[in-house]
Amino acid sequence: MKFEELQLKTELLRAVQELNFEDTTEIQSKCIPIVLSGKDIVGQSQTGSGKTAAFGLPILNNIIVGKGVQAIILTPTRELCVQVHDTMKIMGKYTGLKMASVYGGVSIEPQIDAVRKSEIVIGTPGRVLDHLDRRSLNLSNIRYFVLDEADRMLEMGFVDDILKILDHTPKNRQSLMFSATMPSTIKKIIQRYFKNPVHIRGQT
Ligand code: AMP
Repeated sequence: MKFEELQLKTELLRAVQELNFEDTTEIQSKCIPIVLSGKDIVGQSQTGSGKTAAFGLPILNNIIVGKGVQAIILTPTRELCVQVHDTMKIMGKYTGLKMASVYGGVSIEPQIDAVRKSEIVIGTPGRVLDHLDRRSLNLSNIRYFVLDEADRMLEMGFVDDILKILDHTPKNRQSLMFSATMPSTIKKIIQRYFKNPVHIRGQT
């Protein structure tokens, strides 16, 4: 499928063109229309399948400049956090949207400043909780909650943190999860926190 066939803003199509993405990957052609339609999704896909654009493009499409934090993307590691942030910045370069990445092991002050100005926050669970505790991050108005590499987060012992973060988000949020495997704890989170999610598989 061509990106032009998806109902995305021209600002996003222009950025995608510059990235030299020609056709959508399988996970992108399946996810993007469903996320745009407002449904929750659970995507089962490997790293390298193009999942960042699968959840990132529809979020960038629907979020509004200047209305505070409207999306939180949780990643298991600092490296993935930075990688997702970089990809989101490139795809969103013509949208005027601002993003902040928050992860541990570095000073929190510059992050507090960045979060205040952002519409999208990408973070690792521990540091996101830290910001919530300090009230430097408010998730009460978010529209999108994304769990990236959920199974890895579980392996790293982040379940309780994720549940605490979810409790800071509004019930009418749209929830998106990506995971290579579906252990029972993840299935329980889906049952409890997701609204009739569409399950999507994508290989390439
Ligand atoms: P991800 O799975 O999101 O980490 O993406 C893996 C790699 O695939 C990244 O280097 C992306 O830039 C690239 N990529 C994502 N979508 C496409 C696409 N539709 N066409 C070509 N490359 C892509």
